[in-house]
Amino acid sequence: MDWNDFERWGQKAATWGADYHRTKRDRPVRAQVKPGETLAQLPDSPPEAAQPLEDIWDDFQNIVMPGITHWQHPRFFAYFNSNAAPASVLAEFLTSIVAPQCMLWQTSPSATEMETRMMDWLVQALGLPPTYKGVIQDSASSATLAAVLTMRERALNWAGNQQGLAGQRPLRIYCSDQVHSSIDRAIWVAGIGQDNLIKIPTKGPLRAMDTDALQAAITADRAAGYLPAGIIAATGATGMGACDDMAAVADVAERENLYTHLDAAWAGTAMICPEFRHLWEGADRFDSIVFNPHKWLGAQFDCAAHFLRDPDLLRQTLAIRPEYLKTHAEADITDYSEWSIPLGRRFRALKLWFLIRAYGLDGLRDRIRNHVRWSQELCDRLRAEPEFEIVTDPILSLWTFKVKGADNDATQALVDAINDDGRIYITQTLVDGQKAIRFQAGQFDCTEADFDTAFDTITEIARRA
Ligand SMILES: *Cc1c(COP(=O)(O)O)cnc(C)c1O
Repeated sequence: MDWNDFERWGQKAATWGADYHRTKRDRPVRAQVKPGETLAQLPDSPPEAAQPLEDIWDDFQNIVMPGITHWQHPRFFAYFNSNAAPASVLAEFLTSIVAPQCMLWQTSPSATEMETRMMDWLVQALGLPPTYKGVIQDSASSATLAAVLTMRERALNWAGNQQGLAGQRPLRIYCSDQVHSSIDRAIWVAGIGQDNLIKIPTKGPLRAMDTDALQAAITADRAAGYLPAGIIAATGATGMGACDDMAAVADVAERENLYTHLDAAWAGTAMICPEFRHLWEGADRFDSIVFNPHKWLGAQFDCAAHFLRDPDLLRQTLAIRPEYLKTHAEADITDYSEWSIPLGRRFRALKLWFLIRAYGLDGLRDRIRNHVRWSQELCDRLRAEPEFEIVTDPILSLWTFKVKGADNDATQALVDAINDDGRIYITQTLVDGQKAIRFQAGQFDCTEADFDTAFDTITEIARRA
């Protein structure tokens, strides 16, 4: 295949892509294949001879597509959406054609400067103070790891990278019992150890960290010889959308001189709407904030926006300059690879530029507001049905429910039956040890009618069981 073939196949892919999206409502949301079904259709060994694109294309249709769960389906109500708005797909298409590797300013100046500007745009869109600087990471997990490493190095007076952790006082990091598993993993990878991640109980309708318990844990740890290093808070945690009280957490952090990181991977997008910002009031006192434009906002995966009050702390933690990476004779430039763990970087800012311009902040806000409203209305409709109970009330577009009196097995059986049906896709979660059905909405193209379908599907299958 050469670039002349690319022209023909690229056009074919664009036509197929538009058609796929126009007809995606007709497909079952979750793939309906059995384990091993795809693998069995893939040859055991790679071909020695070149194969025609026609064959590869047909196999894509016949082997790959049946095993795809349609994340861009308007009735994907399961995990947090991973939206790919057409404008961002187009930008990714262009990016993959030009394929720059954007580790240094000089390895593509426009990519670096676009990233700077896009992060400034997002700071404004979220209503954060203009002093925040941003970088695009590949995932929220990476941003959290970078923040945890910064906590570690700052607390150890920058000795950890050099000397390792042996012989240091054990570090402590604090978060609520609702945080995402990426927090635990960051703690493992940073060499801090699960035992030193202290999970503080939560309380109230928003399941916020009990900051009195947080303060008590820090005080006790200091007395016992530990070295507290940082606090990780959440806005919109994965299970049921828990939101910590940022102002109360920041009070503790400032008193204790601890570095703060906020994981708003999903809910951060909603902060482009001023009426939702009460959920993270005080976020502007945090050192590090991450949210994923690749979830609710509509930017093609992957794109995690990481904002820093003082990027120098992160750079001091991660920057490394062998001779071959030095940019000589260029003052006032940014090399974003000094702000992240991988050296190589894709050109991720372009899809934000296309996305924000093609829909405008108003267009993006309209979608978020609709998702929240339609989801909350569906919650109220189910609440009014005698056999259902709402287990946790909506936080933005996320809430949980179950059939009254159903045990964990029956709740799981209902989730499975609904997903086998294919009209909608949902998941389960644990709320205080009990299984509940988790509903969240945020697909870029969903309409109010999709929520009617969700209501019909849920009630019909629950009544059939
Ligand atoms: C999705 C999510 C993550 C993980 O995001 P990745 O970009 O996949 O690493 C972390 N925290 C929360 C609250 C999330 O919703």
